[in-house]
Amino acid sequence: MTPNGLHEKLEELYTEVIRRNAGENEFHQAVHEVLDSLGPVVAKHPEFADTAVIRRLCEPERQIIFRVPWIDDKGAVQINRGFRVEFNSALGPFKGGLRFHPSVYLGIVKFLGFEQIFKNSLTGMPIGGGKGGSDFDPKGRSDGEVMRFCQSFMTELYRHLGEYTDVPAGDIGVGTREIGYMFGQYKRITNRWESGVFTGKGLTWGGSQVRTEATGYGTVFFIDQMLRTKGDSFDGKKVLVSGSGNVAIYAIEKIHQLGGTVVGCSDSGGYIIDEKGVDVEVLREIKEVRRGRICDYVDLRAGGASFVAEHSIWDVGCDIAVPCATQNELSGDQAAALIKSGCKVVAEGANMPCTPDAVKLFAEAGVMFAPGKAANAGGVATSALEMQQNASRDSWTFDETEEQLAEIMRRIHDRCVVTAEEYGQPGNYVAGANIAGFIRVADAMSALGLV
Ligand code: NDP
Repeated sequence: MTPNGLHEKLEELYTEVIRRNAGENEFHQAVHEVLDSLGPVVAKHPEFADTAVIRRLCEPERQIIFRVPWIDDKGAVQINRGFRVEFNSALGPFKGGLRFHPSVYLGIVKFLGFEQIFKNSLTGMPIGGGKGGSDFDPKGRSDGEVMRFCQSFMTELYRHLGEYTDVPAGDIGVGTREIGYMFGQYKRITNRWESGVFTGKGLTWGGSQVRTEATGYGTVFFIDQMLRTKGDSFDGKKVLVSGSGNVAIYAIEKIHQLGGTVVGCSDSGGYIIDEKGVDVEVLREIKEVRRGRICDYVDLRAGGASFVAEHSIWDVGCDIAVPCATQNELSGDQAAALIKSGCKVVAEGANMPCTPDAVKLFAEAGVMFAPGKAANAGGVATSALEMQQNASRDSWTFDETEEQLAEIMRRIHDRCVVTAEEYGQPGNYVAGANIAGFIRVADAMSALGLV
């Protein structure tokens, strides 16, 4: 066994990734997780290691870092840092969201961009991988401040974008409001109404039905498929969802539609418990209208709910856990507590929310575990549907689009299952997702020559 537990042809590459990307811990973690799955692939296809396909995959095609100056409501100058990491375009234009959060730095953007390559590949659609964002914190900022920031951000980024080049979308801190301001500035600078340059647009200006709901709904469709492999369903299940943003809200809505009960959700200040089932309308009022905090839920719900400050939601037991907040939010200790409570399924609505320790414990305990790059791929898949509608100047109904999303999630699920079996790891969704995602992009990279 090599020091990092990897196939010997991959060990040296991983050491090189750490050396060349010093201090970018989340990126190291995301690379290790993929390389860890690729041992059987390298054994079967040594050409992918010998022709440096994997090494090239670990190096972004282009990384853009820029200054974002803007003026706040008091007239003071603020400076933030903007990022766009264009990771891999073998399968299509760079595609992946923008995150606005104070924790954003190059290592976070690279981990997200790296994961995005495999996720987008898994969808089977013509989209490459990229990600971007800024350390700007939209919390507590007025609409005017958010608009001025977005306009300044786009004044630099626009030159790198285009419907055939790089197509951003939302992520943490970036929803329809922010996309509107950025798309507006792009349109103004370029003098082009190029709808295909952004996804997650509003429904009246080129957006797709179901895009807002897609990541949450898609995650739940994926879990539904996992349960079906065991002849089971959501019926009567007690579920916990972390976060209370875009992904969490629509995951909760779909779980309730499929017969489960979500008894709690959270934000970075704590969690709420509502044994009757979290009321999605109240959540939407807090998050989408008031831009408030999850603790406001207790008053608005008027009875039956409680708020626990500064504790993790994973302290509460459940049958199914759906982390939908942020990276590394579910630790080994919390995984152990969930297992003890009888939790049988964990699916990542967020990107990399479970630490490597947690994932290992779930595997050892026989908990079904779906990694984010498979379970939350419905968001980007629906973005690709938005691009299709924009290209054909068409717009589809909600039901039609939701049916396509459900079908895409079924296909992703089955691709993971079949690939895991083919490579001797039945039931291992991590291996299935990493290997299936890798092979499609590696084949394309091999065909395109050394670029
Ligand atoms: P939002 O900004 O809409 O919501 C994020 C939510 O997570 C907020 O409720 C936030 O609370 C909460 N949160 C953040 N940090 C913590 C923490 N440490 N503990 C508890 N809660 C926390 O983002 P999204 O819902 O869009 O994204 C959530 C996750 O899903 C991210 O990992 C993102 O990369 C991933 N994802 C999103 C997609 C999309 O289409 N939007 C697509 C695929 C993946 P607070 O307000 O307190 O910060």
